[in-house]
Amino acid sequence: MADSDSSPSVAASSALSKPNPYQVAQQQFEKAADSMDLPSYIRQILLQPKNELIVNFPIKLDGGPYRLFKGYRVQHNNVLGPYKGGMRYHHDVTLDEVKALATWMTYKCALHGIPFGGAKGGIKFNPREHSPGELERITRRFTYALGSNIGPDHDIPAPDVGTNAQTMVWMMDTYVSLAGPGMGHAGRGVVTGKSVSTGGSHGREQATGQGLVHCIAEWARDARFDLNGATFMVQGFGNVGSNTAKILARTGASMIAVGDWKGYIANGEGINPFKLGEYVARTGSVVGYPGTHPIPREQFFATEVDVFIPAALELEIGIAEARALKCKLIAEGANGPTEPRAEPVLLDKGIHIIPDILANSGGVAVSYYEWLQNKRSEVWELEEVEEKLAKRMKRTYLAVSEYAATRRCDWRTAAMCIALGRIQRSYAERGIFP
Ligand code: NAD
Repeated sequence: MADSDSSPSVAASSALSKPNPYQVAQQQFEKAADSMDLPSYIRQILLQPKNELIVNFPIKLDGGPYRLFKGYRVQHNNVLGPYKGGMRYHHDVTLDEVKALATWMTYKCALHGIPFGGAKGGIKFNPREHSPGELERITRRFTYALGSNIGPDHDIPAPDVGTNAQTMVWMMDTYVSLAGPGMGHAGRGVVTGKSVSTGGSHGREQATGQGLVHCIAEWARDARFDLNGATFMVQGFGNVGSNTAKILARTGASMIAVGDWKGYIANGEGINPFKLGEYVARTGSVVGYPGTHPIPREQFFATEVDVFIPAALELEIGIAEARALKCKLIAEGANGPTEPRAEPVLLDKGIHIIPDILANSGGVAVSYYEWLQNKRSEVWELEEVEEKLAKRMKRTYLAVSEYAATRRCDWRTAAMCIALGRIQRSYAERGIFP
């Protein structure tokens, strides 16, 4: 049977089992490590996370019964600084998924030269099935269970899928309350992505989307492509997807298709991301938004657009999706959205990929600024944050672009090699204790 005949269809592939995300992260690592001859002792260290913590804790639900929850925190590497990474609330969270996400965080921070390591965590449950009161108790009890495994100079969580500024504020308040009076204001730096009124940074909420748009604008400039009048589509309309859509719309580009956990919608004339955001806040999904028509998942992936922004979960772009896609650029808002075997299919079609550890790194960059503000008891103006972010994103984009051009490699490998180079230098100078 021909290869194409045996491939899954786009409609079916979301339901089929995806590759193991941790094996994917390891594969990407091995490819970059091979291309730069990374010493084998550093390979061995980086192929496994330093710490993997699993906690089981009970919560009293609103109606009276108790339920046991399983929480994870994986600390991949801290040679460059304290562990840093989001907390995910999703019913499909697994240890291997968290290990992959923690690994990618190590390389994302190292790519930018941000003095943080990589971590990730989460709880395996569907937050949509719980009241605000239950979510607060789950978050506080999880923070209690993590105890001294997190801390402003040790491991600093942030929002991810299913969590937001409110989640971070509950985590921070629980941590600071348990730490006692000596902790002071600097204790607020135990998490980032907080609301501004509780020690968060101006610009953090939209930072990941803003960073993505900086990357897209840099690509457009280099490719001499006019974003004004261009089209784009977004998979996932949460923090990353909605903010990217709103900021990208300011360039004159128009969103013609979008989807989330419930389904996909389209309108060739354009969908207003601001009004759609208000609709999603009311209804919980993009589905049913007036003036659009529903489309199946396979039609979404086959939509002809200039830019595609995956901003949902990892490994959504398999072989079938890669074959179906008709775009010029994929800017990876999600972590790990592209399967390794789908990547050559996309590149052969001439589709440029801005890899996750570069494209979605605006979030951790501004998280770093938030952490610095907490440490110094400072409050930076939005303009200052935006200026610093723009400079950092453009500098790192240029570094990846130059590396890829000089070494004639794909951009994911280029970004990984820059990150690994920084980690390698640190290990070479520090040595291995004892
Ligand atoms: P979110 O919870 O705010 O939004 C997730 C969106 O994805 C929602 O619209 C949800 O409905 C949709 N979704 C979930 N399952 C889906 C499916 N099977 N098919 C289609 N859509 C689906 O989460 P977020 O913070 O926007 O994170 C999205 C992605 O971006 C994740 O991969 C996350 O790791 C990554 N990321 C987030 C940040 C951040 O600052 N929040 C930073 C870097 C990377």
